Amino acid sequence: MAARETLAFYSPWDDIEAWRKGFAAALPEVDIRQWPDVGDPARVAYAFVEGTPDGALAAFPNLKIIFSPGAGIDHLMRDPKLPKGIPVTRNVQDRMTLGMTQFVVLHALRHHRHMPAYQAQQKDGVWQEIKQAGAWDTRAGVMGLGAIGLGCAQALAAVGFQTLGWTRTPRTHPGITCFHGQDDLLRFLAQTEILVCVLPLTPETEGIVNARTLAALPEGASFINLGRGRHVVEEDLLAALDSGRLSHATLDVFRTEPLPKDSRFWSHPRVTVTPHRAGNSNRLLLIDQAIENVRRLRAGRPLTNVADSSRGY
Ligand code: NDP
Repeated sequence: MAARETLAFYSPWDDIEAWRKGFAAALPEVDIRQWPDVGDPARVAYAFVEGTPDGALAAFPNLKIIFSPGAGIDHLMRDPKLPKGIPVTRNVQDRMTLGMTQFVVLHALRHHRHMPAYQAQQKDGVWQEIKQAGAWDTRAGVMGLGAIGLGCAQALAAVGFQTLGWTRTPRTHPGITCFHGQDDLLRFLAQTEILVCVLPLTPETEGIVNARTLAALPEGASFINLGRGRHVVEEDLLAALDSGRLSHATLDVFRTEPLPKDSRFWSHPRVTVTPHRAGNSNRLLLIDQAIENVRRLRAGRPLTNVADSSRGY
């Protein structure tokens, strides 16, 4: 029987009882304990944490794996005392990619087919055609072609859009015109009529959607953000929407969540708000991935879905 170990659990959204049940069946020697009541800190070998209170993880000298509930690890990177050299695994699921992809295709087509404008016309009983370009004459550009963004870009290409992608390092993907790095950013934006942000939040990508980058988009472009709220300078986005330079924005993520009641995004006629539910992860799969990674660690095999803390994603 393996020595008893503790998994410190800190998540406002996830169900600790599901974790206890999953681990009891597979790895009964691991106690799942709600932070801060974790018992002996020396026994804490694993942590499943969403935005830990600063320094919380530094108190565990024998920590072996940090499990992130999300695809992003930005909530962990904000901790200046995050222990160095401990693998951080992130939530990667085909179903998450599929859900995010569906969201992107749904809203790209809504923007492209002028649905917000038709809905406004319907309210007033207006029967008025709006000039419609073909998707094949319309360019959709995806910022971030990772586990999720690539699926989104491929699906946009499959429904007929000319598709572009922008990444940090050079990439080639059939059917997607690829750009990379800061030097290519404005060139990518200048050709993008529907901009989709599926980037991770890092110091390089924070505030990347701002007055300068929005001004680089063609007149009347639209925007879909399902990355993180802090990718966007919200005042700059509102100004671009107010002026009509940007025709519509679908926003799933915000700087402050839940979106404050007094936010102008709620009532802006050119904005669609969704409550950070573009993608949905399956809790049981996440628990299975954590169990599998504990087994891999014990067997000396490489872990799955490890983020690169030095890059921040
Ligand atoms: P990945 O880590 O698999 O991919 C990240 C992509 O972003 C890569 O293509 C990477 O480039 C690119 N990238 C990173 N930094 C830069 C940069 N500085 N400049 C240009 N490109 C950059 O992430 P996922 O696809 O799994 O997830 C992406 C994000 O989606 C998450 O971090 C999270 O913020 C968000 N998300 C939102 C959800 C929601 O419900 N709204 C749900 C799930 C995720 P390269 O290929 O060169 O490495």
